[in-house]
Amino acid sequence: MAGRNFLFVPGPTNVPDRIMRAMMVSMEDHRSPDFPLLTRTIMPGLKRVFRTERGTPFVFPSSGTGCWEAAITNTLSPGDTVLAARFGQFSHLWIAMCEKHGLNVQIVDVDWGTGVPVEQYAEILRHDTQHKIKAVLACHNETATGVSSDIGAVRRALDDAKHPALLFVDAVSSLASIDFRFDDWGVDMAVSGSQKGLMLPAGLGILCASQKALDMHAEAKLARSYFDLQDMLNANKTGYFPYTPALPLLYGLVEALTMIEEEGLDNIFARHEYLAAGVRAAVQDGWGMKLCAKEPKWHSNTVSAVMVPEGVNGADVISRAYNRYNLSLGAGLSKMAGKLFRIGHLGDMNEVHLMSAIAGAEMAMLDCGIKVRAGSGVAAASEFWRTHRVPVGLDASVAEQIALAKAA
Ligand SMILES: *Cc1c(COP(=O)(O)O)cnc(C)c1O
Repeated sequence: MAGRNFLFVPGPTNVPDRIMRAMMVSMEDHRSPDFPLLTRTIMPGLKRVFRTERGTPFVFPSSGTGCWEAAITNTLSPGDTVLAARFGQFSHLWIAMCEKHGLNVQIVDVDWGTGVPVEQYAEILRHDTQHKIKAVLACHNETATGVSSDIGAVRRALDDAKHPALLFVDAVSSLASIDFRFDDWGVDMAVSGSQKGLMLPAGLGILCASQKALDMHAEAKLARSYFDLQDMLNANKTGYFPYTPALPLLYGLVEALTMIEEEGLDNIFARHEYLAAGVRAAVQDGWGMKLCAKEPKWHSNTVSAVMVPEGVNGADVISRAYNRYNLSLGAGLSKMAGKLFRIGHLGDMNEVHLMSAIAGAEMAMLDCGIKVRAGSGVAAASEFWRTHRVPVGLDASVAEQIALAKAA
């Protein structure tokens, strides 16, 4: 097919040409005396992305899922209780993994389209006076439903209950695109991967661990081998890895970290908020459709899940977009299969690029019989982006910038 494929699944995301070029390297000896320089470039950069001075970052040749496993197997023992909420396919899968490992998961099922139920967490933690709960799991950005949760509030719930449980956060689709604060939020394990906000291909599992979490290693009895953090720590100390690292991805990661520093994390967060607000304008004001996220407080700035009307299969919209317009949209997963399609807007993205997803989704919806007005999504996004500017280098939230623009 002529022209390019437009990729808007919320991971893998678009890899910038700069990163692509940085990964075109000859293989080298990963035991050479020069190799540690690479590791020593990456680790401080990752700490800045996690916003931590105290945490220790880890890089595994795996996808994000591998780091879910690393987080639990290095800290917990069979039969331990963990608290987790389920509100989408990814929060569900982490729970399923915990159960496969023989953990006792206290599951709080909430509506898909909402997020971490902080009030319920607080209540459960207050009543757990025996401190049976060893870890609290929270999915920062549920990619399946386009829902973001307040991780700082989960930390406050733990502190208010004076509960010592570890705080584990899935930051796979939020790191480097939605404000994430490892130290401020007292996170103990933050799990991420390379193929979302970090703009790399899939293949790196990225983890950040607190000292409190690392101190659990000796007494944690869950089986672990490949994902043993102590082996990784021992090798990383001298700048090496315990096994062959994914060399091109590491060079790509150096470039990604450079790009992130050039733009600035706060500017990146503001850009994601601003781009997402344009997509939401297209969905709600333009098309008159609903997001899966039930309230504005749950709106994700990295992915929007658009509910299709009753009687239409969301999978048909996705197939039509792909087969006819070479546009890749995200599918509805599990409970949401057929009910929605998703537009990923994270990583290397700008207004006009994102317009292609809005225009293409609009065409595919019309082809599938959804009665949106042709051009209405594009018009609404255009109106939003033309009237709301993100001044680069201005350390203001988009909300403040919008107020400024309105006042001007
Ligand atoms: C993508 C994603 C995962 C899974 O990551 P893989 O790299 O595919 O293993 C986990 N959690 C969330 C929230 C995700 O978006």
